[in-house]
Amino acid sequence: MQISDLQISQVNNQILSLIKAKSFYGKKLEEAGISGITTPEDFNQLPFSEKNDLREAYPLGLMTAPEEDIVRIHSSSGTTGLPVIIPYTAKDIDDWAIMFARCYETAGITNTDRIQITPGYGLWTAGIGFQSGAEKLGAMVIPMGPGNTDKQLQMMMDMKSTVICATSSYALLLAEEIEKRGIKDKICLKKGVIGSERWGEKMRQRISSELGIELYDIYGLTEVYGPGIGINCKYDTGMHYWDDYIYIEIIDPVTLKPVPDGELGEIVITTLVKEGAPLIRYRTHDLSRIIPGTCPCGSKFPRLDIIMGRTDDMIKIKGVNVFPSQVEEILKEFPEVSSEYQIRISHLDGRDTMRLYVETNGTVDFLALSRRIAEKVKSRIGFTPLVKVVELGLLPRSEKKSKRVFDERYE
Ligand code: ZN
Repeated sequence: MQISDLQISQVNNQILSLIKAKSFYGKKLEEAGISGITTPEDFNQLPFSEKNDLREAYPLGLMTAPEEDIVRIHSSSGTTGLPVIIPYTAKDIDDWAIMFARCYETAGITNTDRIQITPGYGLWTAGIGFQSGAEKLGAMVIPMGPGNTDKQLQMMMDMKSTVICATSSYALLLAEEIEKRGIKDKICLKKGVIGSERWGEKMRQRISSELGIELYDIYGLTEVYGPGIGINCKYDTGMHYWDDYIYIEIIDPVTLKPVPDGELGEIVITTLVKEGAPLIRYRTHDLSRIIPGTCPCGSKFPRLDIIMGRTDDMIKIKGVNVFPSQVEEILKEFPEVSSEYQIRISHLDGRDTMRLYVETNGTVDFLALSRRIAEKVKSRIGFTPLVKVVELGLLPRSEKKSKRVFDERYE
């Protein structure tokens, strides 16, 4: 997507406040000798920013507005090293709620819906983002937070929740519990809003058919407000994103050059009106593409495809670059396996081996199935994995994001 004149002047304002606040990005600009932009070519010269830059600014180095204007902070999970702290002004909080309410509207959710929120509350942006957007919309919020499946299901029945907000793994767990307990006729859910974790078509169909609901993918990350910067509409042709608040470009993660619309690459986000912590050309490491053309719904907002993985998920096995999403694509062609899988890579006797764990039920010949899957991976990707077929339900499900790839070569 070519950046518009309006967006350029908005980016320029973000740059001026970053320079004034002497933030890390202000220093990057100084080093690059840039004090402002007026053309798309100028924009392309702007340096990228990375999660590491944000970590180094810990604790409050990203604060770009005066302290008296900051009303809240959020933090992204710090699984490696320092967490990232994002300061918000009252306007940032309100803008985020407006975007999130727009997400609900795009999914056809209204102020007569009852929205049960299962993502976590606290330092991270999940729960409270879902809640502020729902309140902005005027819907009734049932703020459960994660876990306690008994209570979740009880409230879902008693409050007659019509919308469930969850990660895909937790939505699947709830769907399985509802089936197991035989309470489907007491459940009033119509729609599910599912966090941006990458998830396969198969898992989606399973949740959708077991719960009998429509599913919507919501996109976002703490560094850029939080969830709520994009969602698919009922035509399900990709996620509309709010280009009056953010500018998205897709780049080749190796050459760092923008790729044409329609081509797969890394999502890079620039905030347009953020005050507390503006970000310029922030590399998300999420893989997707811009979908060209207009959506049948008539929305003027551009579209991103679903997230296909992470640039750092790319694994090199026997000299071949592999994305877990490729394996997932292949598994979709086997109706007898479930949507859960695990990839484990190890190094044995000087050779890389990949073990692929899949689940099926007792009506299938495990050996024959593993042979057929191995052959398909060999013909599509170029090497033969060891396929282990296990009993349905044996692979772990979690309330948070499921880890599916384990590289044991460097442990
Ligand atoms: Zn649409």
